Formats: sequence, structure tokens, C-alpha cells
Amino acid sequence: GYRSRAAYKLKQLDREENLLHEGKTVVDLGAAPGGWLQVAAEEVGETGTVIGVDLQRIDPVDGVETVRGDMTDESTREEVRTIAGDAVDVVVSDMAPNMTGEYSVDHARSVHLARQAFETALDVLDTGGDFAVKVFEGQDLDDFREDIEPEFQYVRTLRPDASRDSSSEVYLVAKGRMTAPVEAGD
Ligand code: SAM
Repeated sequence: GYRSRAAYKLKQLDREENLLHEGKTVVDLGAAPGGWLQVAAEEVGETGTVIGVDLQRIDPVDGVETVRGDMTDESTREEVRTIAGDAVDVVVSDMAPNMTGEYSVDHARSVHLARQAFETALDVLDTGGDFAVKVFEGQDLDDFREDIEPEFQYVRTLRPDASRDSSSEVYLVAKGRMTAPVEAGD
């Protein structure tokens, strides 16, 4: 079994949009307790690489490297760039804010986290790489999607079956990064 029901969301995103493959490098943001890490590690196999990041400690997962840190801190993003390099195949983010129950606040915080994940994706993804990110629906979702679109071949909005009870959550899946990252200082 998996550590989280969330594992089945990544499985569904992978079935529908073909994200995870043998030998690939995957960065998972907001990875605790580690269900997505377990799925990713299975799919990339021993020749692949999986890196998980979270505010919370993540119990070890075989073959997975973990970073404990806040993705809104530049120091954490720097650590992820150092470990992951700039030829990552897939960046996934299931990051979610602590819920206040106030719809507009939770939405704004979710979009903020999703934008941090997007910036990291632009830093580390190789050409052709894929990006999948959770975001709560609301007024800023369309703008966020529009900012992602020019960087990828296409973007789809998916709502996995396992997400149905938390009704406002969707996943944007962006396939096929169009350009390689530019080296700083070149
Ligand atoms: N995909 C995970 C799994 O399958 O086990 C579940 C992820 S859970 C829904 C969301 C996670 O996002 C939480 O563990 C939370 O600590 C993390 N998170 C929220 N804000 C974060 C931030 N600023 N930096 C890193 N992780 C964050």
C-alpha cells in the first residue's frame, strides 16, 4: 500500500498524461508523507532519480533523496537546483497551504505555492520535460494557466477521481517544455 491516498491522484495523472518513465529524473514538491514519491520511484525504477521536498520530515523511501525546506525560501529552491541540476524530466507539485477555510485566502496561498513550483520547474526542467501542479480553483487560476502555456507544448486541467471530495482542487499538467533553461551568468 501507499502512504497516502494522494498516491492514486499521481497514478491517474500519469495514466492520462504519461508523466513517469523508466530512467527519468523526477522532482516532487510538497512530497510528505511520500505517496507520490513511492509511485514515482516505482515508475522510474533503479535507473531513475526521485527527489522529494517538503516542510515536513519525510520518512525514507527506497531510492529517493529528500530535502526538508520551504519552497517559498530562496535557500530551499537553491538546494533543489543544486541537487536536481538543470536536466530534470518531470516536476510535480502537490503543495497545499494550511487551510483557513476562507476560500479566497486559501486560493491565493495555493496559487502562490503553485507559482513557486512553476519557477522551480523553469529552473530545472530539460527541454521536453513535463510539469504537473495542484492548485485550488478561483479567480487567479486562469492567469496562472496563461503564464504556463507559452513555456510548454500544451497545458491540460485535470481533476483526478481521488480529488472529488476536495472539490476546489485541480491539477494543471503542462507537457513538453519548449526551451532548455538558460545558465545563469552565460
Ligand atoms: N503528494 C503527497 C503524498 O502523496 O504523500 C501529499 C502532499 S500534501 C497534500 C501537501 C504537502 O505540501 C504537505 O506535506 C505540506 O507540508 C507541503 N507544503 C506546503 N507548503 C509548502 C512549502 N512552502 N514548501 C514545501 N512544502 C510545502
